[in-house]
Amino acid sequence: MLIDSHAHLDSERYADDRGAMLGRAFEAGVGAVLAIGIGEQAAGMDGALAVCREFNGLAGVPRLYASAGIYPHNTHEADDAVLAKLDSLLAEPEVIACGEIGLDYYHEGVSREVQREGLIKQLEIAAARKRPILIHCRGTNESTDAWDDLFEILADHWRPSGLGGVMHCFGGGWEQARRSLELGFLVSFAGNLTYPKAQGLREVAARLPLDGVLVETDAPWLAPAPDRGKRNEPAWVLRTALVLAELLRVDGEEIASATTKNFSKLFRLGVDVGN
Ligand SMILES: [Zn+2]
Repeated sequence: MLIDSHAHLDSERYADDRGAMLGRAFEAGVGAVLAIGIGEQAAGMDGALAVCREFNGLAGVPRLYASAGIYPHNTHEADDAVLAKLDSLLAEPEVIACGEIGLDYYHEGVSREVQREGLIKQLEIAAARKRPILIHCRGTNESTDAWDDLFEILADHWRPSGLGGVMHCFGGGWEQARRSLELGFLVSFAGNLTYPKAQGLREVAARLPLDGVLVETDAPWLAPAPDRGKRNEPAWVLRTALVLAELLRVDGEEIASATTKNFSKLFRLGVDVGN
């Protein structure tokens, strides 16, 4: 059994075939999916929980979990009402994580200062609700600017919680991976690990311990090779998992059991996660 640790199941792009898409994931051996609740705007961060509640309990689909959070470029919307909504969502049993939250200096938009403030406020809410966090971090081109700011914020505002989290769709270098592990985070790889030009990322992945990694799709984005550019879906997480397995010199079953165990441990789900 595999777990897709990050998929935007509430995306409009699944409006016509969401049930069938989840059925294909189940058939492909995906036992659980963490649905990411960020919406198009912060007001839509309950979308993942709604998908969870629609499908959990039905036969032939993966077990679904949800997150809720304010995406870096939506942090200008983080007023008291939105933060109160986040707090109440994180109290729901299905909402096991706060995210994806973090810093994105790559895209133009919300200022760095507003992103940092929004992140810190969410870290406080997540810590009080005892929910691990899902981090999105992207710097300007080759720079580590966003990572440097991120680690500084996490050291002050997150490390004391002891809750850890996930570095989602990891795209940093070895130094960032090492510091993530040291902070108690799991490093999660998406379909870009399979792209021909991602040799540097594969070299980083190959140095990670088996108990420090996860796999994800980030669906509907980042479809793995050879479907790059198409709509992605959780069934395809297997391809990324097999590339990671080869890098870590284990077989498909070992990468599946290790990533499932890592996910269950981080989110304190017990051994019966999924089926
Ligand atoms: Zn995402």
